[in-house]
Amino acid sequence: MNPNIAYKFCPRCSGNLLQEKENMLRCKKCRFEFYINALPCNAVLIENEKGEILLVKRKFDPKKGYWDWPGGFLDSYESLKDSIKREIKEELGVKIELEKFVGAYSDTYLFQNINNPVIVLVMAGKIKGEIKVSDDVSGYKYFSKKDIFKQKLAFASMRIGLRDYITGKS
Ligand SMILES: [Zn+2]
Repeated sequence: MNPNIAYKFCPRCSGNLLQEKENMLRCKKCRFEFYINALPCNAVLIENEKGEILLVKRKFDPKKGYWDWPGGFLDSYESLKDSIKREIKEELGVKIELEKFVGAYSDTYLFQNINNPVIVLVMAGKIKGEIKVSDDVSGYKYFSKKDIFKQKLAFASMRIGLRDYITGKS
């Protein structure tokens, strides 16, 4: 379900929330404005020496078993670069050297039955050392720039981001 239906009570006073705008619910009692904003995520595009791109296999739902780009959610008060370094360490067990910013892509992420709006901030980077997957990742593979679009990709925005990156539009 959409978040404007999922959230019923004010987080400040527990009064009833009423939808006022597409992305804002207002508390009937204390007038608190509860905004439904996109949650920031990161992702990173990593190429090997053959020019193939790394994808990781999702260990959990949503989209368990689908191919995803490495990354995750930004923690509160964390910078984009710090969040990518943290996620890559957690998921792949390696250090990353970040290069250019690729783009920002809107998408949705189904979690706890709520279809949350997200914004995916994508960078390119290079890794050193041997990958050891852990955390929410069950495997990894490098795909050629042609074959990558034929895979079961977890999220629609990945196709747009990958195309921008490969065609150099970003
Ligand atoms: Zn309230």
